Amino acid sequence: MTTRTAKATQVYEGGCLCGAIRYRATAAPVRCVICHCSMCRKHSGGPALAFVHFPAEAFLWTRGEPTRYRSSAFAERGFCSQCGSTLSMHERVLKDRVQVAVGTLDDAARVQPDDHVWTQDQLPWLRLDDDLPKFARNSSAVPSEAADD
Ligand SMILES: [Zn+2]
Ligand SMILES: [Zn+2]
Repeated sequence: MTTRTAKATQVYEGGCLCGAIRYRATAAPVRCVICHCSMCRKHSGGPALAFVHFPAEAFLWTRGEPTRYRSSAFAERGFCSQCGSTLSMHERVLKDRVQVAVGTLDDAARVQPDDHVWTQDQLPWLRLDDDLPKFARNSSAVPSEAADD
C-alpha cells in the first residue's frame, strides 16, 4: 500500500484526571469491550468498565506511564499514582494491543463498543437497552485466560 492510498491517520488522545499521564493512538481501535466482571468494578469504582483496544505498535504513552498492579497471574491493571484514575489493562495473552479505559479518552464518544462481557456478574439494577452482543463470560472475539472460578 502506498501513502497515497492509505487512509488518513486516525489520532486518539487521552489521559488521566490530573494530566500526569497522557497517551496517543494513531490507529483505529481494534475493539471496545464493556466488562461487567467484579474485578473491573473494583478497578474502576463504576458499575462496569469499558476498555478500548488499540494496536500496540500504534500506541504511545506520551507523558508518564501508569503504575501497574498485578491483579492476577496473567494480567496487570494500570492507574495513575497521582490521581488514582483507572487507565489500562495489560494481559499476557493480548500483547498485540494496549487496552485503555474508554473514559480516559478526550473524546470517548468517537468509540463504539462492540459487546458486553461477563454479564453473568452484571449488577441487577444496571439496565442496558442497546442491542450489542452479550456474553456471559468472555467474548469469543478476544482471547482470554480469565476463568470464573
Ligand atoms: Zn493522574
Ligand atoms: Zn472485567
